[in-house]
Amino acid sequence: MGEVRATLQCCVWELTLRCNLRCRHCGATAGRARAAELSPAEALRVADELASLPADEVTLMGGELFLRPDWYAVAERLRAGGVGLVVFTNATLLNAERIAQLRALEPRTIGTSLDGGCAAVHDDIRGRAGAFARTVAALDALPAAGLPVAVITTLTRRNLYELPGIARLLVGRGIRWQIQCAGAGGERLASQDLLTPFEFYFAARFIARMRATYSWEELPVIGAHDFGYCSAQLPYLGMPGQVWMGCPAGRSVLGIQSNGRVKACLSLPDDLVVGSLREISLTELWQGDTLASWRRPVERAGFCALCPHGAVCEGGCTGMAVTYSGRRGDDPCCLYRLEQIHQQGGYDAQTTQAFEGTTSATAAIAAATTSGDYPPARV
Ligand code: SF4
Ligand code: SF4
Repeated sequence: MGEVRATLQCCVWELTLRCNLRCRHCGATAGRARAAELSPAEALRVADELASLPADEVTLMGGELFLRPDWYAVAERLRAGGVGLVVFTNATLLNAERIAQLRALEPRTIGTSLDGGCAAVHDDIRGRAGAFARTVAALDALPAAGLPVAVITTLTRRNLYELPGIARLLVGRGIRWQIQCAGAGGERLASQDLLTPFEFYFAARFIARMRATYSWEELPVIGAHDFGYCSAQLPYLGMPGQVWMGCPAGRSVLGIQSNGRVKACLSLPDDLVVGSLREISLTELWQGDTLASWRRPVERAGFCALCPHGAVCEGGCTGMAVTYSGRRGDDPCCLYRLEQIHQQGGYDAQTTQAFEGTTSATAAIAAATTSGDYPPARV
């Protein structure tokens, strides 16, 4: 057995890599189906294994989930096994039949992506004209059908300044909004499109400002796991009432690719695959030693090695650490780290200036505020 007897709280399962969009930041470079995706029979077996483990919650996603003909059979099997369901879709293929199917599944949430506050930016990122209009229509149709909706915004340098516009679309509608950073996975995202640590800090400030401006009922906005920790200046940006306890990959979180390969978290690069559900059962994988290295304390490096929060935080989000520093246990996109290095005079003059507010990122806050776009107007 691994060192920690783990409960699988959240399994993210990519049912297919087929997708009708071509999003620039897609970590899986979705488009065509993966070679040798799980057959319908194999997918139902995995669903049964998830139910018997049991997994508390499974997020079904793609590619685009609706392009896999047996998506509903898999979702139904999970629900019949008592698993909580989250369905992630780009919402461009929603129709009355699929909305009825979703209602029958009684999902905890329908997640959909919104990467811009206007069609020009969203459609450019999503690689398809008309995607924005369809997603915005779904944000009306799904709640009207009684389905709980969450919007996920994946930040790159292409849409950082769209945050006020997206907030304007969402405020007052009770739609949960999760903001996350694009990682380095995927072939369509240029490395220069990744947020710099200071742009990351800007986004964190934005989330904190929205939470101070609006009540949870008006704009339930959170930063995802990858969104900064242990700040001395900003409140925790995750779910209210929770605290950051370190990366849960392989401990309470698991990712399954459409070909049955498993990672401790689906956001991690493919060289961190730990096994294949064609070769090992999910129960054996989860309860045996396969994930042992993910359940030991993380060996921290760099700034994280000496951090006073390190024993709990363990070096932040593994996906971000691997993206930005190439190793686990050393996440440069950490609010605490950015603040501390600045406070200790550890940045050169240009970087210090950036942190204090003259970068394009923080200048944009001022410009948008002056123009009335920030914070977004109440509707
Ligand atoms: S410096 Fe590293 S260990 Fe410390 S809070 Fe930030 S990510 Fe966590
Ligand atoms: S790698 Fe990041 S996103 Fe994945 S479980 Fe860990 S903290 Fe969460």
